[in-house]
Amino acid sequence: MDTHAYPVTRSDAEWRARLTPEQYAVMRNHGTERPGSCALLYEKRAGTFYCVGCDQPLFESKLKFESGTGWPSFNDPVPGSIETTVDRSYGMVRTECHCSRCG
Ligand SMILES: [Zn+2]
Repeated sequence: MDTHAYPVTRSDAEWRARLTPEQYAVMRNHGTERPGSCALLYEKRAGTFYCVGCDQPLFESKLKFESGTGWPSFNDPVPGSIETTVDRSYGMVRTECHCSRCG
């Protein structure tokens, strides 16, 4: 992780206790779910998607759309809820999105 200080911080043991192993890999270890593997891809109910790390509202269902990428996609996040970092590893330029409150 970077050294940015987030309003919500937890020890590694606390993160492991709060998250499933797959959530931990994605959220704390820069992992990526396999395309099409996320149950939220098929979530159609009206409501709000919250960060599992700190319960901050991240996305509204009305802005969710089918991108065809295999990952849940949204036109815009809840304002201020998402920050991005640029990852230039592996010879690629990729933008990683993360929760502004817990990283
Ligand atoms: Zn969070």
